[in-house]
Amino acid sequence: MGLLDFIFPKYCVNCKRVGDYLCPNCFSYLSFDTKNICLICGKPSYNGLTHPKCRGKYRIDGAFTGVVFNPVSKKLIYQLKYKPYLKDLGDFMTDLLYESLIQNEEFVRVTRSRYVFVPIPLSDKRFKKRGYNQAEIIAVNLSKKFGFLVVNGLERIRETKSQVGLNKEERKENIAGAFRLKEQFKYHIKNKNVIIVDDVLTTGATLYEAGKIFKKGGVIQVFGVAFAREQ
Ligand SMILES: [Zn+2]
Ligand SMILES: [Zn+2]
Repeated sequence: MGLLDFIFPKYCVNCKRVGDYLCPNCFSYLSFDTKNICLICGKPSYNGLTHPKCRGKYRIDGAFTGVVFNPVSKKLIYQLKYKPYLKDLGDFMTDLLYESLIQNEEFVRVTRSRYVFVPIPLSDKRFKKRGYNQAEIIAVNLSKKFGFLVVNGLERIRETKSQVGLNKEERKENIAGAFRLKEQFKYHIKNKNVIIVDDVLTTGATLYEAGKIFKKGGVIQVFGVAFAREQ
């Protein structure tokens, strides 16, 4: 136990028991996500890749996730979003995500090439209010594991309403045109590979939209990574 643990003891996000962000009992409610789907058609896909028949010039190439979105992983994500003083919660969650990713042989194959991690940005308004972006915390922690740079290359150019309660098509409409590449980033991403990082993947509308922006900007391979997947 370090000094900081003594001053700020960790509590299980689910049952509040002192010790770690998840006690062994609540940890057992988590499960690695194995439901890989193609983000284009939404049907099952081997190892999370976009089906050959669903590929397109401006389409994302696949997506990988860590754990199943359930009441326990939801609490982890909530704490990461709203409790910035939980300094190493991001490490804890990224370790889980990493363990899941390296079990996916397709992800391991893909990341033999060099990538840059790009977190899904918050709107300026939300960023100012919260002071940090939870997707960036995950991206920074992943970068330590994979040795890829993190580049905040996307910006949100308009506010979007919450995606909660919307179906796949509504989500796509809601997020369409919400992002653009930052001017200073345009030159650097041509002919590179990008992994977009987000906290939760639901229908994949956000990753789909961001993927399109990168492909139009000349990126070769675009994949998405999210901590949890809503089933
Ligand atoms: Zn617990
Ligand atoms: Zn498909």
